Amino acid sequence: MAALLKATKALCLCLGGCRRLSQLAELPDTHQILRQTCRDYADRELAPIASKLDRHHSYPARQIKALGALGVMAVEAPEELGGAGMDYLAYSLVMEEISRGCASTGAVVSVNNSLYIGPILKFGSDEQKREWIAPFTAGDRVGCFALSEPGNGSDAGAASTTAHRDGDQWVLNGTKAWITNSWDASATVVFATTDKSLKHKGISAFLIPMPHPGLSLGKKEDKLGIRATSTANIILENCRIPAGNMLGPRGAGFKIAMQTLDSGRIGIASQALGIAQASLDCAADYAHKRSAFGAPIGRLQAVQFKLADMAVATESARLLTWKASLLRDAKKPFTKEAAMAKLAASEAATFCAHQAIQVLGGMGYVTDMPAERHYRDARITEIYEGTSEIQRLVIAGQVLKEYQP
Ligand SMILES: Cc1cc2nc3c(=O)[nH]c(=O)nc-3n(C[C@H](O)[C@H](O)[C@H](O)COP(=O)(O)OP(=O)(O)OC[C@H]3O[C@@H](n4cnc5c(N)ncnc54)[C@H](O)[C@@H]3O)c2cc1C
Repeated sequence: MAALLKATKALCLCLGGCRRLSQLAELPDTHQILRQTCRDYADRELAPIASKLDRHHSYPARQIKALGALGVMAVEAPEELGGAGMDYLAYSLVMEEISRGCASTGAVVSVNNSLYIGPILKFGSDEQKREWIAPFTAGDRVGCFALSEPGNGSDAGAASTTAHRDGDQWVLNGTKAWITNSWDASATVVFATTDKSLKHKGISAFLIPMPHPGLSLGKKEDKLGIRATSTANIILENCRIPAGNMLGPRGAGFKIAMQTLDSGRIGIASQALGIAQASLDCAADYAHKRSAFGAPIGRLQAVQFKLADMAVATESARLLTWKASLLRDAKKPFTKEAAMAKLAASEAATFCAHQAIQVLGGMGYVTDMPAERHYRDARITEIYEGTSEIQRLVIAGQVLKEYQP
């Protein structure tokens, strides 16, 4: 598998230069191979056990290790750090296919790739990259990203967690909330204010190993969906770390968080696409197999219209997501497109999961079929890494800027 990914990457580098946004309709061969590899893995190893992981709230340790061996726990990180050295379109495809099999596993992959490794890759020193990225590429260790707090989620600039300097150490105090992977993680990126008077410009980013003295975890949240991931508070009480564990310059934390979320949103859009596609797969398959009034329900126009609307919602969100990835890969501005992709894909996931339950009737409502899990998993994509309301604010802000008289 790893050899296949290496070959895929070599081809990718050759073809990457000739890719254009107008080629959205068809993926380069390299990316098709990667997509098929992840799809096969998800069909074989994730979809069959996703319900069990969900029911038992089990972290998918074996699967994450296997995904590490496949090279997809650090898609963008360069090979010298143990990553796959591929582009963001590749990451988007990985996220969609893995989430199509198991959205919880997709969430773990997403946090490690875009929220943990992402900011270190962009803002870390060479030494920090070696220390904090290389051991997190193989799937036996994952990281997390601690921005939200009990008192502020959307309003991330109002962080109340503090960091003060004491000799050659930083001392952190405060509580970070809702942290995905927290119970399973070996390190975290944490945001804390080093100067409250500067408001969001006083926030800085730090790297903390886990476990670590002064850092403890709250209870595991009992969630509606993505139940195979751990979500908990991270509590910092006089948590001392070396001065060298600051990520990026002092006061750059808010910028690091916002840029990380811009990219992360493409990953969540891709996770949502996986859930939307899985819902459509399940509904279309059932429409062939289930008969009512002497014929398969797929012959009923009411069912056909649902399938058509689901296919349109999924495909249009996919094109937005690929467009945002390609803009990012071309180093062009992508903030608006990433927000559009996340908004469209997360709403498509919720819509498709809702429709899938309707197509399945009673079978949609029980755990024997995956539709009810897709319905529960879809909902988080409209909330984390910026709610749908926040995406609309971001998009509107950019649109108004474009139409500035
Ligand atoms: C399962 C799960 C995993 C998560 N993982 C992480 C993680 O790994 N790391 C991390 O840092 N955080 C994580 N989060 C936190 C998540 O990002 C926040 O929950 C999210 O940003 C919303 O913040 P909030 O819950 O405080 O809601 P609030 O900000 O209190 O918002 C409540 C409501 O008000 C609306 N609202 C708020 N402000 C505005 C506005 N200006 N205009 C319009 N509407 C507005 C919101 O859209 C929402 O509908 C996770 C959350 C969950 C549930």
